[in-house]
Amino acid sequence: MRILLVEDESKLARSLARGLQEEGHTVDCCERGQDGFEQAEATPYDVVVLDWMLPDMDGLAILRQWRSRGLQVPVLMLTARGSVSERVLGLRAGADDYLVKPFAFDELLARLDALQRRCGLSQAVRQVGDVVLDTRKRALARDGREVALSAREYSLALQLFEHAGEVLTRTELLSRVWGSQFDGEPNVVDVYIGYLRKKLADTGTTSAQVRTVRGIGYRLEVQGDSQT
Ligand code: CA
Repeated sequence: MRILLVEDESKLARSLARGLQEEGHTVDCCERGQDGFEQAEATPYDVVVLDWMLPDMDGLAILRQWRSRGLQVPVLMLTARGSVSERVLGLRAGADDYLVKPFAFDELLARLDALQRRCGLSQAVRQVGDVVLDTRKRALARDGREVALSAREYSLALQLFEHAGEVLTRTELLSRVWGSQFDGEPNVVDVYIGYLRKKLADTGTTSAQVRTVRGIGYRLEVQGDSQT
C-alpha cells in the first residue's frame, strides 16, 4: 500500500514509518497538517494515517476539508482522545477507522489490512467498454493514452464505473460525490458530467459513454448495450 502518515511526534512517526516499510508499504510522512493536507490532494494514496492533534491544523478540520472537496481516500485517525463523543465526531467527519494512542503496532497493521479489504483497494482498475478507470493514478486510460481527472471528476467517475449499466439519480450522485451537507446548486452534477464526457472523449473511446436518462439521472454504459 502507498501510505501517507501525518503525525507531528517525530519519534513516533519515524518508528511507524520504519515498521510499515518493513511490512512492504511505501510511506510518505508529513509533520505539519498543512503539508499533509496538500500532499494527499497531490498524490493518490491507498490510505492516510492522520493524527488528530497537530501544531498548525486540526486533523479533524483537515479530514472535513478533504471530504468536502471530494477526496475519498480511506483515513485512519490517531488520537490520544478516547471518549465516545470524540470518536463519534471523528467518524462523522469521514474517518474510516480510529485508533487511540498508545496503541500496539500490530493493531495498526491489522486495521490497515482491514481498511484495505473493506475499501476494495486490490481492485485498482475498473473497465467499462474499452476505457479503464485507474484508481491508483485517478485517471482514465485507453490504449496507452491517459487522461488525468481532478479529485471531484475522479470521485464522480468512480461512482459511475462502480455502477456501470445502472442509472444513478442526480440526488444519489450529489450526496455520494459532494456529500450530504452540500448546499450549492444541484446542477453542479450536470456540469461535472459534462467535464467527464469531455475527458472520456479525450481518451478516444468508441464504446463507453455517459448516457442521460431524462428526468432521472445518468448511466455509464457500453454503446450498443443500452436497453432503450
Ligand atoms: Ca500530535
